[in-house]
Amino acid sequence: MELTALYLVKVGEILLKLGNRREFENRLKADIGKRLSGIPHKIEYQPGRFFVLVEEEGAATAEEILSRTPGVNGWARCIRTAKNFADIEGAALKVAAAAMAGGARRFKVESRRSDKSFPLDSFEIAKELGHSILVAHPEAKVDLHNPEFLVNVEIRDRAFVYGRPARGLRGLPIGSQGRGLLLLSGGIDSPVAGYLMARRGLNLEAMYFHAWPYTSKEAHDKVKDLARVLSAYTGGITLWTVPFTDIQMALKKGAREDLTTLMMRAAMMEIAHAFATKRGDTCIITGESLGQVASQTPQNLRFTQFPTDLPLLRPLVGIDKEDTIAMARAIGSFDISVRPYEDCCVIFSPTHPLLKANLAREKAAYEALGLGPLIAAALEGIEKFELPFSERMPPPH
Ligand code: ATP
Ligand code: MG
Repeated sequence: MELTALYLVKVGEILLKLGNRREFENRLKADIGKRLSGIPHKIEYQPGRFFVLVEEEGAATAEEILSRTPGVNGWARCIRTAKNFADIEGAALKVAAAAMAGGARRFKVESRRSDKSFPLDSFEIAKELGHSILVAHPEAKVDLHNPEFLVNVEIRDRAFVYGRPARGLRGLPIGSQGRGLLLLSGGIDSPVAGYLMARRGLNLEAMYFHAWPYTSKEAHDKVKDLARVLSAYTGGITLWTVPFTDIQMALKKGAREDLTTLMMRAAMMEIAHAFATKRGDTCIITGESLGQVASQTPQNLRFTQFPTDLPLLRPLVGIDKEDTIAMARAIGSFDISVRPYEDCCVIFSPTHPLLKANLAREKAAYEALGLGPLIAAALEGIEKFELPFSERMPPPH
């Protein structure tokens, strides 16, 4: 089979990072290559652009991948022709005919000429092609300000013709900001938090605290599926699961009832900190949002972060729940998050939690619990689940 399906890939914000632009581009190229490794493909680089070639039957897969790779600003199926006007015109008419078949009428031709030896300049190319389209489609209309469809032409080593690019995720290539540890529960928020940080170039690994047998196997499967959703954006993810039941039981017995959630959060953070440090992760990510639940008041956020001095990233801190839900739907995690299996925290929640922790006082209470040996045992009992990249999302149920 021939690699006949050609995609032009626009790289995004990385263009602004002039200092390490090449490194970022290499990273993005390697990442796209890794995601495409299941199908025959080729990736070519030209300044500010990648060209991705796949077989026709791999086109749908390539499109899913390009839509979910951080650092890709936009992409378009593209026609490559020789650098003569007749061939370019033929390609432009094809792009126009496809858009018009979808009902679009008002159009604009945009052209760029990086090969200055081409006899027409950018303005002339656009003018001539606009004319050709109007002749072929008398019902079409030029609209420079609010076009319904675009015909893009780039004159490089060859000529490239394409319509309006599809929007990519934008952001920064995965790994360009190192790797962080995401505390991933079965809820709505933490997968979205992970997604937002992945888009900023952070590679992720995920950690889930389970309270088996108080939490079910289904709850565990749900978190694995959520990790799989994230894996479609990060290009693969490792999920670490922590046996947390003994700590929960110790807290239920030994902690003042109104402090149990806070103490549990602090224990999670102590474990996360130890593990992240050992793994070389440079930050911890949670789905916390200011005021959303009792443990997320400013005083309680201050307390629950005390066991770590790593940057604690809370990308949802200022995001309204409705907006988080909209993002969860858009990334494909929502239907999984709302499966009705409780995670550990819900089961052990106190009825009247303390709203304003006093750092020194609550820290002393935490230390008096003497959780050290249980924390060490939990760290020992961590299990690993590798969720390799797949361009297909897990089904909602
Ligand atoms: P989420 O929807 O992400 O569960 P939430 O609104 O239910 O968030 P909490 O349950 O208070 O809020 O959890 C706050 C954050 O703590 C979560 O976003 C997640 O990052 C982390 N977290 C809570 N429970 C767990 C767990 N069982 N395993 C791993 N991380 C957890
Ligand atoms: Mg939760």
